[in-house]
This record gives sequence, structure tokens and C-alpha cells, in this order.
Amino acid sequence: MTRKRIAILGATGSIGTQALEVVRACPGWFEIQVLTAATNAEALIQQALEFLPKVVVVADESKYQEVKEALWGTSVMVMAGAAALEEVVQHAEVDLVLSALVGSAGLRPTVAAIKAGKDIALANKETLVMAGQLVMDLVHKHQVSLLPVDSEHSAIFQCLVGEDRNPIEKIYLTASGGPFRGKSRDFLSTVTREQALQHPNWVMGAKITIDSATLMNKGLEVIEAKWLFGLQTRQIDVVVHPQSIIHSMVQFEDGTIKAQLGLPDMKFPIQYALTYPKRVENSFKRFNFMDFPKLTFEQADTDTFHNLALAYRALETGGNVPCILNAANEMVVAAFLKDKVGFLQMSDIIEETMEVVHRIDTPSLDDYEDTDRKSRAIAGELITKSNKTYHIVK
Ligand code: NAD
Ligand code: MG
Repeated sequence: MTRKRIAILGATGSIGTQALEVVRACPGWFEIQVLTAATNAEALIQQALEFLPKVVVVADESKYQEVKEALWGTSVMVMAGAAALEEVVQHAEVDLVLSALVGSAGLRPTVAAIKAGKDIALANKETLVMAGQLVMDLVHKHQVSLLPVDSEHSAIFQCLVGEDRNPIEKIYLTASGGPFRGKSRDFLSTVTREQALQHPNWVMGAKITIDSATLMNKGLEVIEAKWLFGLQTRQIDVVVHPQSIIHSMVQFEDGTIKAQLGLPDMKFPIQYALTYPKRVENSFKRFNFMDFPKLTFEQADTDTFHNLALAYRALETGGNVPCILNAANEMVVAAFLKDKVGFLQMSDIIEETMEVVHRIDTPSLDDYEDTDRKSRAIAGELITKSNKTYHIVK
């Protein structure tokens, strides 16, 4: 058996470290060729010493010396800087790139990997939110596989296996509802970063955890689903399912619904993306139906959580508008994590940014990056403005 040769972008994050657990759990299946991190040199060094990849990249150049010295005398080559991410994904000895960076930093390296003909396991949903049309055109042009890692999209993907292109009537993306499900806007106006970081079912990076609390994560996933599965907006429904056991569902034209179920553990969808089309035995904890005698469903509350409605609006408008939504969201989430804006102000700032930034119908990669920059600048100004009022309210 030939081992799949893998590059992991964002190896020190929540998805990256769980991917390495999958690699440990499936001995003989994978060879780690590339590992990258933003700033966490210590974790990257430990991973490099364990997996001995060909190359590691630390995006933060000030950490280069530390990593270089720690790996002195090993076979591991050390690189630094954002441009190195685009270079290493093209390495001849890489078959598949796991894109597990967070945020818009994922776009360029993922595009470079697709252009180099590499298969992609995509966790970085922001890539498809920002530039879905462009990325899917490249996927088709270079005939690479784009394998979803996001649990909902992995569920849909698994439901479609064996369907031989039978048309989809609609899909249901399940949402846990986050830590503030059922709460009022009054309550939300007072919530803190610490409360928002307590997700009921999943342990994830900080950005996606806040996105889950605001329902923006589901909004981003609606956009991601459109591009991955070639759907119209009206074919994508969201249903709140607080237990996070059904990971998502497909309804076919005969009215049949297929669902994919399991424990909320990202190692399962990560492993499926890495071993696809095969299923490989592991010893991860199994689901027990008696632990979940009740699976329940609710309507998503877009009156309270505006972000989900904003994401649908961005998707309907198209062009660079989802890219504006994404950039503004990254800014407000970073500000919320620094206690600079309130919970409810986040969607107000995103909405205002979407109204102000110039629209482009068919953006190029440069246009997307320009949109990202401009949207960040405008959202940044709005954050500074609202920061003044926020501290008075607090
Ligand atoms: P995280 O914050 O835990 O990890 C992010 C990783 O990317 C880290 O290794 C970090 O060093 C690296 N990174 C961050 N910014 C970078 C930059 N500018 N340049 C280079 N490297 C950078 O995030 P996460 O929770 O693992 O999420 C990663 C992606 O996967 C996100 O797009 C998220 O939406 C998606 N996702 C995550 C989960 C989950 O359970 N964590 C589930 C579904 C989808
Ligand atoms: Mg998800």
C-alpha cells in the first residue's frame, strides 16, 4: 500500500492537531510531508520532531530562528513567512493538502495547491465563502478532489456516495444553536467573551466558536455548501438540532432523506477526508443510542441572530458580497475577543460594511483580496466608532 503524502496547513490548531491524532490512529496510511503554524513555534517543533516532515513553515518570521535551532541536525527544512505557505503546497511529494488555517489567510495557499494539481481536504471554509466561484472553477480546471472536512459538508458528501448524480431536492444543514440558543436580544446585549467561548458540543478554535455563538458559522456553511454541491440558495435549509448527532441531511427528488450520524467529534470527518474513498478502522469512541434517546429539532431564530440572515443575503447578492461579509466578520470577531465590541454590535457592523463596500459582480483573485482589505478597513473604522458607545453601555 502506498502511503498518502500530506501537507497540513494550520497543524497546531484544533483541526490540525486532530488530523495528527487521525494520522497516529491509522499507522501505515499517511506520510506527513509539510506542517505549518502561524506563531506557535513550540507546538510546531514538537510536531516536527515526532513526524519528521520534509518542511515546516512558521508564518511569523520572528519565530524562524527558534524553530531552525530546535530542528538543527534533523532532516526537516524550516521556512518562514506567508509566501512560503504557497510554495510548500506545490511540493512534488505532496498528494493532498489539508487546509486548516483559520480565516482569509487560507485562500492563497489553497488556490496555489489546487493550481499545482493537489487534492484538497478543506476545513478552511472561509476560502469558499470569499471566492467560491473562482475556487470551484480552478477545482474543475485542474481536476482535483475537493473533500469537505466541515462535519455538515462531510455528512452531505457521505450521503451522496452511491447516488450517481441523482439530483438533490434540498439539503438540511444542522446547527447546534450554540451557547445562546433560545436567549433574547436583551440577554445577548450583555454576554461576555467567556460565555460565548463555551460551546455546548464542540471544542474548536476561538474564531469558529464565536461564529457558532452568533450563528455566522452556519451562515458561512450555507455559502460553503452552495459551492461544494452546486446548489441554489433556496435548496439550502438550516435546522437547529441541539444534540449535534445528525451532522446534516440530503433530501432527494423522490422525497427520501438521507442523514449521517455520529458523535460530535471532528476526527471522524477529518479521517474520511484523508482516507477517502476508503474507510479505515480506528478505535475512536463509538456512538451509543441510549445516551441520546431524544433527538430534537427547531427553527433557526434569524430575528435574534441576524448573522444567518446576512449570510443568506450575501449569497443571494453574489459577486464579492460574501467576501465582504467574511472580512467584516473576521474583524468583529477579533474585536469581540478583545472585548472591543458587544455581541449584538457584531452583526450591525457586518451589515453596515456590506452596504458601504463597492460591489463587483465577477471578481478576480486580486479583486477578492482588494475587497478583503477594504472591508477590513471599513469594519475597523466602525469598530473604533462603536467601541466608544460600547464602553458606556457596559
Ligand atoms: P485554530 O485557530 O484552532 O487553528 C488555526 C491554525 O491556523 C493554527 O495552526 C494557526 O497557527 C494557523 N494560522 C492562523 N492564522 C494564520 C495565518 N494568518 N497564517 C498562517 N497560519 C495561520 O482554528 P480551527 O478551529 O482549527 O479552525 C481551522 C479552520 O477549520 C477554520 O476555517 C474553521 O472554520 C474550520 N473548522 C474548524 C472546526 C473545528 O472543530 N475546529 C470544525 C469545522 C471547520
Ligand atoms: Mg461545521
